[in-house]
Amino acid sequence: MNLAIASGKGGVGKSTVAASLALLFARDYSFQLIDADVDCPDLHLIFPGKDLLNKPVHLSKVAEIDFSKCTRCMACVEECPFDAIDQKLRIDPVYCEGCGLCVHVCPEKAISLKERLTGVLKERQVNYDFDSHTVSFNLIYGELEPGQSSSGRLVDELKKLGEENEITLIDSAAGVGCPVISSIQGSDLALLVTEPTPAALDDLKRMSDLANHFGIPQVLIINKADISREWNQRIKEFAVERSIEIVGEIPFHDSAFKALSQGKPLVATNSPLKRDIIKIYKKVTSFIG
Ligand code: SF4
Ligand code: SF4
Repeated sequence: MNLAIASGKGGVGKSTVAASLALLFARDYSFQLIDADVDCPDLHLIFPGKDLLNKPVHLSKVAEIDFSKCTRCMACVEECPFDAIDQKLRIDPVYCEGCGLCVHVCPEKAISLKERLTGVLKERQVNYDFDSHTVSFNLIYGELEPGQSSSGRLVDELKKLGEENEITLIDSAAGVGCPVISSIQGSDLALLVTEPTPAALDDLKRMSDLANHFGIPQVLIINKADISREWNQRIKEFAVERSIEIVGEIPFHDSAFKALSQGKPLVATNSPLKRDIIKIYKKVTSFIG
């Protein structure tokens, strides 16, 4: 079963929930964790382990001019739809989308497309002391090369590394862009994490729309649930309107920040929030066939 954690808005505690659920799932099921936030992965900082894979991937191309053939006709400069070639015929790799139009228009066949590094796929075996025994699972994550825009395709590559397990938990990036679409596609259940603020509710609606678009059933977790009674109520009204079950609420507590600063999953600390996360975990497992 593939479970995707998503939030729309960043900073609502999505990865905090993901790290704790990961330990609980790994204790009870064959399990793997995918950190699909390739722009800013962080779960590898929480879960040290033995590195199994470090694989560079080249998913995009960049134009290159062979100046021994170039006659400086400037056709490529004029035609490039992304203004990636300047008057001195320098190609800016950040702006070049690898579309190949310049290759097509160059009368001297002086331009070619070469592969470029998109990012790195990584996998590690995690052995974590939890609940009086060691839980083991593989963590798959990626790092997008700075300036690259193929985050969605890199997430697709990450997901291909996954193996058959009872549970695969995918921690998606914030937002509703390409990497999030790639993260949640094919999931059996989306665990939406939000907090009671206007911005979080707005982003939750967009995230729920996206999950609906792909026909993915959703459940909802309200983090920092007690910071606004009014917005908590509005989230609940939204959940009723969309028939989304709320599988738990986590109150605001300093121990969440302490766990974060120590780089520990909440359930591996003595935080009072531990019991709230365990309750959520039990509710989520009731969806597993
Ligand atoms: S490949 Fe496309 S974007 Fe890149 S320089 Fe050529 S025309 Fe411009
Ligand atoms: S189109 Fe070809 S020949 Fe003309 S300036 Fe560009 S690289 Fe040089």
